[in-house]
Amino acid sequence: MDPLRTVQTRAPSAPGALVPLLGLDGPELAALAEGLGLKPFQARELYRWLYARRQTDPTRWTTLPRAAREALAAGTRTGVPELLGDQRSGDGTRKLLLGLADGQAVEAVYIPDGARRTLCISSQVGCAVGCTFCLTARMGFARNLTAGEILGQVYAAEARTDLGGRPYNVVFMGMGEPLLNRAAVEKALGLMQDPDGMAISWRRITVSTSGLADALLEFARSPVCPRLALSLHAAKDELRGRLMPLNRAYPLPRLRQVLQELTHRERERVSLEYLLLGGVNDSDADARDVARFARGLKVKANLIHFNPAEGLPYRRSTEERGRAFQEILVAEGVPTSIRRSRGLDILAACGQLAKAGWRDPFPEAAP
Ligand code: SAH
Ligand code: SF4
Repeated sequence: MDPLRTVQTRAPSAPGALVPLLGLDGPELAALAEGLGLKPFQARELYRWLYARRQTDPTRWTTLPRAAREALAAGTRTGVPELLGDQRSGDGTRKLLLGLADGQAVEAVYIPDGARRTLCISSQVGCAVGCTFCLTARMGFARNLTAGEILGQVYAAEARTDLGGRPYNVVFMGMGEPLLNRAAVEKALGLMQDPDGMAISWRRITVSTSGLADALLEFARSPVCPRLALSLHAAKDELRGRLMPLNRAYPLPRLRQVLQELTHRERERVSLEYLLLGGVNDSDADARDVARFARGLKVKANLIHFNPAEGLPYRRSTEERGRAFQEILVAEGVPTSIRRSRGLDILAACGQLAKAGWRDPFPEAAP
């Protein structure tokens, strides 16, 4: 099957003018509540039902008057995406295909790892950045997700996995470039981190960016900015430009300048994500380039083995090469880990999110 064939999505499910509840912040919910004749303290209750208790069905908001509950149920929708597919990998990883109200779909990936559990979510439908090693790039860019659709992935995943209850990690490493959808991502991050709401600590959230330097600097100033990861993949402009066309707009000296500023601001270490592409960027000399780039910066490196997919013109580095690369970085004083690939067999690993490998759930809608 053509791995790049996107799933046939539904016709828009015509939600009418119903307001999606998820994604509304405190003041927006207060306005909604006021329109229903509720008091400010009841608006805060509404917020807690929705975000702290993860209860998206207004008819269950039992501390509110019945009439208000019924009006809310009739006039709003939850905004939790519909589960269109749930693929399980042999290693426990699960890829959820989630349908949005307009017929688009995104993927979220649940990754258990012993006691540690991570949810990888998307920020856009597709991606416009065009990295040459990434499957999402191949599907092009469809649209930004709303804050509610970003949070909806968390709700959908919590409802179907053992997430929830205990703290877990959220990484913005699914489809899309978060910093090209900053307004919605920041709104979602604010709601996620609110101790009176979803209460997910910033320490457990990582936003990964391909390196839009200016947006990164602004984002880092935002009070909702959690941990940061920067997809580096090469420490020489010529090579990085070949792998990531965006490097021409934001070359390495500029990115380094931004990291320097972050270093001075006492931020957590930024994680430099480095995809090992066999014979392309994985030599000893490449490792020394990365070490030189990292010198004096408050960073750590995270090596990722390339996840191959049909049509991507690269191959994996060997395990030995990965370890040799890591040893050079560590010897040069850069804390370096190697990320294990998870969910490879179901195309759920990094860079493999492209709505491929799904059975068409709506065959009758096919042209
Ligand atoms: N757009 C953001 C976040 C999503 S991509 C970014 O690029 O950082 C998340 C991570 O997956 C990035 O580090 C990206 O470089 C990596 N990735 C992309 N394609 C990959 C592939 N084929 N194999 C392994 N990792 C990949
Ligand atoms: Fe977009 Fe990230 Fe894929 Fe690059 S690696 S195309 S920025 S999703």
